[in-house]
Amino acid sequence: MTFDPAPSSISGTPSVVQSLRAHEGRAVPFSVEFNPPRDAAGEARLWRAVREFECMHPAFVSMTYGAGGSTKDRTVRVTGQLARETTLLPVAHLTAVGHSVAELRSLVGAYADSGIRNILVLRGDPPGDPLGEWHRHPEGVEYAEELVRIVRDLGDFHVGVASFPQGHHRSPDLDSDTAFLVAKLRAGAEYSITQMFFEVDHYLRLRDRVAALDPSEGAKPIIPELMPITSLRTVTRAEELCGRPLPASVLERLRRAAGDGPEENKAAVREAGIEIATEMAQRLIAEGAPCLHFITLNFAKATSEVLANLGYGVTPAPARA
Ligand SMILES: Cc1cc2nc3c(=O)[nH]c(=O)nc-3n(C[C@H](O)[C@H](O)[C@H](O)COP(=O)(O)OP(=O)(O)OC[C@H]3O[C@@H](n4cnc5c(N)ncnc54)[C@H](O)[C@@H]3O)c2cc1C
Repeated sequence: MTFDPAPSSISGTPSVVQSLRAHEGRAVPFSVEFNPPRDAAGEARLWRAVREFECMHPAFVSMTYGAGGSTKDRTVRVTGQLARETTLLPVAHLTAVGHSVAELRSLVGAYADSGIRNILVLRGDPPGDPLGEWHRHPEGVEYAEELVRIVRDLGDFHVGVASFPQGHHRSPDLDSDTAFLVAKLRAGAEYSITQMFFEVDHYLRLRDRVAALDPSEGAKPIIPELMPITSLRTVTRAEELCGRPLPASVLERLRRAAGDGPEENKAAVREAGIEIATEMAQRLIAEGAPCLHFITLNFAKATSEVLANLGYGVTPAPARA
């Protein structure tokens, strides 16, 4: 990898890219995505997952930001707690939807006050219906690329962006989708995290497209996002997050595991889901993926099982760059 990350911040908080580098020569690093909790029970579940993952030394953990700012206060509060009260490296998601530039600037300030230097910059989807018509806030931004520039101009922040192995659902074609991703990287993003996918070839083709369009930006890490399916019910959630139906071969495997009986064979579906995620992770590692990013829905068990299948365990933390 030839990409040179921006220098570490004055506060000494490493960037995501520096954290990935600290794992070089060891097993491919992993990272996890959390969601801000909705209530006390959700908060307790999140913290159980946080403490379990903490023992496994993920390269970073990210915290989503609800549509249109619906989780603003919780995202800022919990991400700040992760920064202050754990050994984890938190990445705060930030979305443009529903916010003026002044509000976005003040949110970035709130993140900085909480000790957060790594931000995943996103446009976000229209609240209510993610596939509905997109309307820019009258004093906001149109595309994530503009928000990358705003965050970078505000100070010493390390920025990541979203990428889409099958293209974003609003992009006219894969070439323009790739060009928009490269524009976000040129604007100052240091890496991207992909939308979840179930065909590794889609990830590999995205990587090839970016490298062909701009070899220098193509050297920045493209981090694949995975979600182990644990029940037929989570298939719907996975399809929402993929923005596409699951591949027929994956659905067929899960349905076969569920069986023909009146009751779904839940244990077999879960086992198949963990196997599918493990096989994808093995291929991604073989293909040189820089990190494996897991959607956890604030549960540690399924991701831990995939990691155990890959031979990951509780290991000493790598030295930070
Ligand atoms: C890893 C990951 C994490 C996410 N986390 C969250 C979250 O926490 N909260 C949340 O609400 N959503 C989240 N999302 C969803 C994301 O906000 C949506 O997918 C959104 O529709 C696209 O965001 P973006 O940042 O890629 O937008 P953009 O990069 O702005 O792209 C939006 C659309 O505009 C096109 N486009 C971009 N630039 C231009 C241009 N210059 N001219 C014309 N067209 C252009 C793009 O191809 C795309 O079709 C996440 C997505 C991913 C992959």
